[in-house]
Amino acid sequence: MAILEIKEYPDPILKQKAKPVEQIDDSIRRLLDDMVETMYAAPGVGLAAPQVGVSLRVIVVDASPKDEGAKLMKLINPVITHSEGSTSDEEGCLSIPEISGEVVRAKKISVEALDENGKPVSFTTDTFLARVIQHEIDHLNGILFIDRLSRLKQDLIKRKLKKRAKKEEPEKL
Ligand SMILES: [Zn+2]
Repeated sequence: MAILEIKEYPDPILKQKAKPVEQIDDSIRRLLDDMVETMYAAPGVGLAAPQVGVSLRVIVVDASPKDEGAKLMKLINPVITHSEGSTSDEEGCLSIPEISGEVVRAKKISVEALDENGKPVSFTTDTFLARVIQHEIDHLNGILFIDRLSRLKQDLIKRKLKKRAKKEEPEKL
């Protein structure tokens, strides 16, 4: 297994819609394992493939730090088949370090996906896991949590990020 580089805003891959996985083979299983290692090392509770530079519909989640009974899940081509209610909570993202914001999400979701062996999995959740999965599936659609904040808050954060990106640019000689 290997720890992968996490792409950070404004890397253009984060704005792309990821492609469905068509064949689940060893290279996909290796990607999943590397994503798990990268997520735990960060540390984070979820990671989507575009965040490590791979534009495929693959996510890993482990909400157990905030969600008793949650376990590691590796999900391929995940789809939310049903959602209801709404809830607001503070969110951050490994691709947007040091930024957080209050994001409204569905309270309860039903999910269908394939596991690493291509076996269909489906479940319903209304705990913290529901928020994590919605955040990660957003990544597969090129949506970041800051895109879900109020216009005012978005402008504020984007200005801050732009300033930071400029500062990190090397000096031009
Ligand atoms: Zn994220």
